Amino acid sequence: MIRLAIVCPCYNEEAVIGHSSERLLDLIGRLSSAGKISADSFVLMVNDGSRDRTWELIRGLHAKDPVHFKGIDLAHNAGHQKAILAGMMTAVRTADAIVTVDVDLQDDIEAIGKMVDAYAEGYDVVYGVKVSRKADPVFKRLTAVAFYRLQRKLGVETVYNHADFRFMSRRVVEELGRYEERNLYLRGIIPMIGYRSTTVDDVISEREAGESKYTVSKMFTLALNGITSFSVKPIYSILTTGLIFVVISICIGIYVIASLISGTAEHGWASLMLSVWFVGGVVLLAIGMIGLYIGRIFIEVKHRPHYHIREELD
Ligand code: UDP
Ligand code: MG
Repeated sequence: MIRLAIVCPCYNEEAVIGHSSERLLDLIGRLSSAGKISADSFVLMVNDGSRDRTWELIRGLHAKDPVHFKGIDLAHNAGHQKAILAGMMTAVRTADAIVTVDVDLQDDIEAIGKMVDAYAEGYDVVYGVKVSRKADPVFKRLTAVAFYRLQRKLGVETVYNHADFRFMSRRVVEELGRYEERNLYLRGIIPMIGYRSTTVDDVISEREAGESKYTVSKMFTLALNGITSFSVKPIYSILTTGLIFVVISICIGIYVIASLISGTAEHGWASLMLSVWFVGGVVLLAIGMIGLYIGRIFIEVKHRPHYHIREELD
């Protein structure tokens, strides 16, 4: 039977930890009675540099029930993605599989049972996919949809409407540990690892207490990471623009020469007109060429693993 770790990032969450821990403990009890997970499966709370009583509450939970509640305390506010990573890398030492879920439990934790079933059927990754965003504020809903579309256009492979509510087997988390990049965007990396994956429905509910810890600036940083860590298309587009400018300058060149010959051109106009477009085009082309190399360097410095072995016969 698998030992499951439920990893919850917590940033200033004193208002929700009490109730969330009860619900998670109850879930572990039910899943283990049903024979799906072992009785020593546990919750790992990651305190992401909170300034309120979050860490004291986590310590309290661990003191009362050290088997089911574990915790790590990050030295500063490293951010949601890094808090999840820290939790996963700690949990993988003792667990067979890991679920990450926000501690406010807006995600449908009943889906965790279905995730475990999918694992038993041979899936290594199970994504919780939001079936309805009614509980999300309008601003969040609109920006999220626009962002997913933009990502898709730029060729970033992600699971539509999935935020970090996800089940991963131990080997996926171990492979994830081979990614050394600093600008972390888990939703982009996990699909790259490429093991068998499936999805389960995730009905979102409203936050029970406290308020959203994802400020607009944190959302913006995440979105920027989600694009710039995976796509070099924005840099390469400079090159395309440069090419277009050079083509335009040739057309204008023809027009200018025609005006000169027909004698309709003002004195000095022709040379000015030509150089503006031509120089602009050449400069853009040059920047685009440099961009090509920067794009390569950017991919190179990530030191991403070349491959992931799914199975080995020996
Ligand atoms: N969180 C975190 N560090 C941060 C911001 C948020 O660990 O810097 C945690 C937070 O405690 C919660 C999860 O990330 O468990 C998602 O945050 P929140 O629920 O506020 O975001 P929303 O659901 O509004 O997108
Ligand atoms: Mg939330």
